[in-house]
Amino acid sequence: MTSTSEIILNCKAFRKNIGFIRSLLDEKTIISAVVKGNAYGHGTHIVIPVLERMGINHFSVYSSPEAKDAFYARTEDSTIMIMGFVYDNDYKWIVRNNIEFYVSGLDELNKAINTAKELNHKAIIHIDVETGMNRTGLPLNKLKEAIAIINSNPENLIIKGITTHFAGAESIANYTRIRKQIKVFKSRVRLLNKYNIYSEIQHVASSAATINYPDTRMDLVRTGILIYGYWPTKESFIQYIHRKKDRTDPLERVLSWNSQLISVKKVSEGEFVGYGMSFQALKETYIGIVPVGYTNGYSRSLSNNGHILINGQKAPVIGSVNMNMILCDITNIPNVKIGDQAVLIGKDGDTEISFSSFAEMNNSMNYEILARLPENIKRSFIE
Ligand SMILES: *Cc1c(COP(=O)(O)O)cnc(C)c1O
Repeated sequence: MTSTSEIILNCKAFRKNIGFIRSLLDEKTIISAVVKGNAYGHGTHIVIPVLERMGINHFSVYSSPEAKDAFYARTEDSTIMIMGFVYDNDYKWIVRNNIEFYVSGLDELNKAINTAKELNHKAIIHIDVETGMNRTGLPLNKLKEAIAIINSNPENLIIKGITTHFAGAESIANYTRIRKQIKVFKSRVRLLNKYNIYSEIQHVASSAATINYPDTRMDLVRTGILIYGYWPTKESFIQYIHRKKDRTDPLERVLSWNSQLISVKKVSEGEFVGYGMSFQALKETYIGIVPVGYTNGYSRSLSNNGHILINGQKAPVIGSVNMNMILCDITNIPNVKIGDQAVLIGKDGDTEISFSSFAEMNNSMNYEILARLPENIKRSFIE
């Protein structure tokens, strides 16, 4: 399918971000690249082989369909770990292919065991314990039941990991809550050990915890947003950088999103532009049209609000973002013509539309904008 815009991934940036994460970790700590949400919009099928070339051999996804995408994208025998939902129909495929998965409830545990019995092939599980986020994970009473079930089926399971997830390690406001979760996690591990359940690895850290809570790095870190070159929040960047002499950002954004101008026109003073009356030209204004709209992942909240780059200069988005196009003000940019590149995200010369500033304009998080980039946009990478 052809699309009106394209996404380009910069391998140098991937290498830099991985190098940065690596520099924080002990040698033995595994980096799991989180590739849920179509690799945060970057494209699982293209991201996995590129990261494998850079030495990453562990990938985390949310669901069993995402695990299939990752499985068919990989070019090496990389580990795939499902942190969330498995469809009933997928248990057999998962167990047979040694896909690892979280067990967050007794139902999942029983399905894992039954599938393993049926296939005569061990299921590789990570015990997800509830420590205070109150989302998923086994609370204490269920964990005790799980212990009994696990210990009566030792031949069907490989206990690969014990894990939990933090409720907001990206903000210092949650410090006490996170410290408490770490304590609860350690006591749950002790409980499991007491009943002779030992895991090969323990892992709890996402990007934010990897940065802000060094003692959470343990055996493996599940880093998503950092891999792609973004900080989980501005606050997590400041928390990291204020301790450093060198205050340059150690991360580089991997993704650029480009389109082009398909029309250029002049509007007289006083005219309204686009649907309704949300933008009125206060003087003679030159307008460019870019064939990308909210159906292509360009958020409507950027109406009269976002910027794009034309010839290395910022052009404000004017009027409302339409389903298939946006209008921008190019009055102050010289020599603009049809066919010129329009950078929706990324750099042009020294100017950058970065996702973080983009996210702030958009009043939503990096994660959401990235994850919403549609699958049908053509993606490629440069070295
Ligand atoms: C999404 C997710 C991560 C990765 O989060 P980032 O902030 O992108 O690093 C880690 N662990 C779990 C359980 C997740 O759902």
